[in-house]
Amino acid sequence: MNKNSSNTMALAPNISNKRETVCIFGTGDFGRALGHKMIQSGYPVVYGSRSTQISNLIPKDAEVLSHAEAAQKAAIIIIAIQRQHYNFLTPLAEVLQGKVLVDISNNLKLNQYPESNAEYLAQLLPGSKVVKAFNTVSAWALQSGTLDASRQVFVCGDDVEAKQMVMNIVRALGLTPLDKGSLLAAQEIENYPLQLFPMWKFPIFLSLGLTAFFFLYCLALDVIYTYIYENNNFSFFIAITIPNRVCPVMALILLALVYLPGIFAAIIQLYRGTKYRRFPDWLDKWMLCRKQLGLVALAFASLHAVFTLVTPLRAFVSWRTSKGIISQALNNKTEPLNNTNAWLSDSYLALGILGYFLFVLLGITSLPSVSNNVNWREFRFVQSKLGYLALILCTAHTLVYGGKWFLSPSAYKWYLPNIYILSLIVPCAVLVVKFVLIFPCVDKPLTKIRQGWERNPKYSE
Ligand code: NAP
Repeated sequence: MNKNSSNTMALAPNISNKRETVCIFGTGDFGRALGHKMIQSGYPVVYGSRSTQISNLIPKDAEVLSHAEAAQKAAIIIIAIQRQHYNFLTPLAEVLQGKVLVDISNNLKLNQYPESNAEYLAQLLPGSKVVKAFNTVSAWALQSGTLDASRQVFVCGDDVEAKQMVMNIVRALGLTPLDKGSLLAAQEIENYPLQLFPMWKFPIFLSLGLTAFFFLYCLALDVIYTYIYENNNFSFFIAITIPNRVCPVMALILLALVYLPGIFAAIIQLYRGTKYRRFPDWLDKWMLCRKQLGLVALAFASLHAVFTLVTPLRAFVSWRTSKGIISQALNNKTEPLNNTNAWLSDSYLALGILGYFLFVLLGITSLPSVSNNVNWREFRFVQSKLGYLALILCTAHTLVYGGKWFLSPSAYKWYLPNIYILSLIVPCAVLVVKFVLIFPCVDKPLTKIRQGWERNPKYSE
């Protein structure tokens, strides 16, 4: 065989650039937007409508006919009509026989009907080949050309050839088809546009709850306590001081919560001696939203960095500094540099900066555009090894900064521990257990289990 023949074919220009006519039922928002895009991509478009009058809104080069006449002109018919009107199609069954019907409809509620709209359409017209597509693309995005965020078009259908025809159109429009399989997947595809950040719910509610708790905790100890027992009005702490305590605490706890489910999973697998039994639901869900937890943690860490950078601008800080200088001048005495304090402050700042740098790196590698360009091992290296390093650095940053309060009795106002002590509980627990898990006597059986070994195999050969 001529070695070059396939290359020559691939490079040969497409002699027939003519595209097949596409019919769209419905001249509403979506029908018009899709028709417009198709005409731009070289498809002749014919509309099937209840009214054949041409209006200014309809794309210039499109024809508008009755449903039956329009359907006869194309092999593919896009049904840009709400599901509740689908029964008008039943009398057209004969003319729609063997045609590819593209269901693009959405619902107002999750699982609104017992079956998906596409399956309903297939039941109404068993002689046609129904394909689900385009429902996750909005009419506005199609018309304004702002499709960057939603280039993916989920496609599903029982007839492979029909699905291919629709996927070719999707590609010709500059979009990316994603084959989701048979028409059974239609319900899931129809639910996509109705979901509101499903993976973000738990991280957001957890963060809101913990933030409110720590904010009130600081308010009680730093403002109310000092007002009652020391007669100092530090209510302005609410603006920067308290948020700058709550943010690092939240960042550290949430980062630890990203790694905690992995620790639970390892303990469960070791205990069961197999990886072939499902984790409890709560653990599965927790594992699935680790990326979101990490991103919320990064947001808190970034806020902490910004709050810290504005510290020199604060009136309270400059008052405290000048008070120190004046008291030294009045006493005619210069305080010597406390080397231990200088070491501690430089160390916690350095640990914080390095920890934040790794935190940002973790955030960047979780972006799809970056994670798609690294292999599984590289991704694991960053998210697991560097992630744990970030947790160690951030924990050490808090330990060095907050350590001075651990033993001081003045830190236990109302017998409550300082917020920094609280913030270290989960990260320290995660790090200690992780340390135990990397001991060879624990790590070896765990690695074996993760490679498929079972302590008591259910199905032995
Ligand atoms: P729309 O503006 O209300 O248009 C629906 C069209 O359906 C009407 O213009 C009408 O076209 C036709 N129609 C209305 N009642 C009918 C009836 N009783 N019998 C036959 N035809 C009837 O709605 P749309 O926004 O274009 O949405 C159409 C479909 O696309 C819906 O299923 C929607 O879920 C889906 N969708 C919309 C978007 C979007 O961004 N809008 C995005 C994805 C999916 P004629 O007057 O020409 O007959």
